[in-house]
Amino acid sequence: MKITSVEPIHLRVPVVEALPDGTLDVLVVLIHTDEGLTGIGEVTSQSYVCKACFDAPRSAARRHGLTSILVGEDPRDPVALWEKMYYETNRYGRRGAAIHAISGADIALWDLKGKAEGKPVSELLGGRRRDTVRAYASVLFGDTPDETAKMAAEFVKLGLTAVKFGWGPFGASAETDLAHIHAAQAVLGERDLMVDAGHAWDIDTALERVQILAPTGIVWLEEPLSQDDRAGYARLCENSPVPIAAGEGDVTHWDFEDLIQRGVHVVQPDVAFCGGLTVCRRVSEMCEPLGRRPVPHCFSTGINLAASLHWISTVSNGDLVEYCLRPSPLMRKLVKNLPPLIDGRVPVPDGPGLGIELDQDIIDEFRVDP
Ligand SMILES: [Mg+2]
Repeated sequence: MKITSVEPIHLRVPVVEALPDGTLDVLVVLIHTDEGLTGIGEVTSQSYVCKACFDAPRSAARRHGLTSILVGEDPRDPVALWEKMYYETNRYGRRGAAIHAISGADIALWDLKGKAEGKPVSELLGGRRRDTVRAYASVLFGDTPDETAKMAAEFVKLGLTAVKFGWGPFGASAETDLAHIHAAQAVLGERDLMVDAGHAWDIDTALERVQILAPTGIVWLEEPLSQDDRAGYARLCENSPVPIAAGEGDVTHWDFEDLIQRGVHVVQPDVAFCGGLTVCRRVSEMCEPLGRRPVPHCFSTGINLAASLHWISTVSNGDLVEYCLRPSPLMRKLVKNLPPLIDGRVPVPDGPGLGIELDQDIIDEFRVDP
């Protein structure tokens, strides 16, 4: 089987909200073959820049466009092609947009391999340990504790057993933070509450605040520091009574190896950003023996969700996935058979590859051809 063409398609809703989120524009990656099979992938990043990483022509060594690297290759060895894409882009790549773009190609290659072999991606990644995965939803904190409580009540109605609040007013003062957490917990009861601090603090403030937050019993505190304060994370993880989560901005297994060595308890790669399923599998292989918990960051479309479910279903301590509830048609309708939320859990798609089907009408409606 040979790759005949690669089609990066930028989808974008016409009105980008004042507070844009990851569901308003996306780069879908289709990889076509001479046997009529097509692999589906997604890039959650700057779509125009990542599209250029595909479309760029061949150049000097190690600065080629991704399409030129992939066309003519046999798609059934995604790991070998990951290495090839990484190496042949490394003058402009290694981190950032080129790796985000490689994520979309990598997901599509795993989908193709599964379709070619008649196996779900979860089976190719080592075999699923569960057929459904527990979901958590995430949302911004309300402007007031009352608003936060109202949103918590909505999530309870949907049957969720885990919820994450973040950003907004959180971080400004210990009193405000505790008021919002207590308001949410009064509604959530025994359900899990996670908090995303949105890079709010420096290390000294974070060390003080985790002591104040510990008695609330929150399940994790996410990104209290700048993503680049690696030394800060090492100090905080060693001293925090609250588990620390990070990694949604990291790429490649080397970045995650560093994060894990610095002690981060909950590791959050985004499959459509970090380098794809090939990287996610390496991350969970590093996490499992150390008892660290991988939890997919997932806030874009059903392609990302399906890939995240296939991966995390294979991980021993991986019974949790982020489930996006935003109303964008790219989230709700792009994948015709979007994995649904049922009693707080999400089924891993069956069928070969990712087990998803795209809605051509949605692609036609929201396609942006620059
Ligand atoms: Mg976050």
